[in-house]
Amino acid sequence: MKNRKLLMIPGPIEFTPEVLGAMGLPTTSHVAPNFINVCGEALELMRQVFLSPTGQPFIMAGSGTLAMDMAAANLIEEGDGVLVVNTGYFSDRFAKIAQRYGAKVTEVRASVVGDVPSADDVEKALKSGSFKIMTLTHVDTSTAVCVDIKKLAHIARSYGVLSVVDGVCSVAGEELRQDEWGVDIALTASQKAIGVPPGLALVMASPKAMEAFRNRTSPVRNFYADWNEWLPIMKAYEERRPSYFGTPAVNLVWALNVSLKQIGEEGMEKRVARHKRISRAFKDAMRALGLKQVPLSDEKSATTLSGVYYPDGTDSSLLKHIGDAGVIVAGGLHPQIKDKYFRVGHMGAVNGSDILSTIGAIETALVKSNYKFDKGRGLQAAAAILE
Ligand code: PMP
Repeated sequence: MKNRKLLMIPGPIEFTPEVLGAMGLPTTSHVAPNFINVCGEALELMRQVFLSPTGQPFIMAGSGTLAMDMAAANLIEEGDGVLVVNTGYFSDRFAKIAQRYGAKVTEVRASVVGDVPSADDVEKALKSGSFKIMTLTHVDTSTAVCVDIKKLAHIARSYGVLSVVDGVCSVAGEELRQDEWGVDIALTASQKAIGVPPGLALVMASPKAMEAFRNRTSPVRNFYADWNEWLPIMKAYEERRPSYFGTPAVNLVWALNVSLKQIGEEGMEKRVARHKRISRAFKDAMRALGLKQVPLSDEKSATTLSGVYYPDGTDSSLLKHIGDAGVIVAGGLHPQIKDKYFRVGHMGAVNGSDILSTIGAIETALVKSNYKFDKGRGLQAAAAILE
């Protein structure tokens, strides 16, 4: 009998056997010719996933927060204006990071949790101040809302403002066309939809972002994240030359190479469509069970995860019951509603049977919690989408 539980949190996620196999390969030197090739290839493949043929990729040992830190450290100088489009916990984090580098931060927020600021509100804010950067959280993992990057990045560019997209919970799952949409920085972490165990921070910078970095007049206030150090390293790997600044996470880069190739084999359009289908199956199932979701509408919902309120008469003990039924899901994160909802990640290699198992475990847990509903209704609703 398999005694492992299915991991359905919004990262880390379930990884493919091939990716996990790469983690167990003998570790090479970071300047071994085969590793140089693997890292060089991974950098090239990142452009295909971010849909950014003109972008400058960075691969660093660290988590998603380092990717955010790197973007802020290299672009912000003392006194720069930063507009934070705030959709939850991780947008708050970007505001704090920007402040740490001396930015004057202005925030535009939705009035209620589960909503996103309107394009008009964002434009009004851009008009009313002087900004160098606008940060956006593509999918805020605390609320499961998704913002319209295409529209908002376009507005930012029309005001000459650089758009920095936290795509930690979106890249390789949600649609994100970095070059076509004029996104200046897109960043992510390995443990989410890109499908590699935790430990890599991934950043893609547009030519405009690199130009803004080159035009700095003050030093980068972060030693480890300084592009002056990392740019020559990334260029060397792409040119298949040995180089060193900080030791790369060799096995993780190997695993990233495998995952990026698997993503390429599936193709970005098909991958995005699969995420949409699985997400719809899950969300329809929750509705069929009478469970309310955090995002106010489907258009504002992520496809990489769902945020679901505990139904009346139940509470966070539901999480334990879902776990006892073999599936791990996550509790709440947004401070205003933390104890009222749970989160389910459905990204990366996720398939139809994973989502049916998850819905089955939720139904089992609801029965244990004495919630009254028609058993099997959620599974039926999901199966209708997955057929
Ligand atoms: N941004 C978003 C949208 C996230 O979901 C996360 C992680 N859940 C982060 C940033 C921070 O990433 P990490 O935990 O890898 O530092």
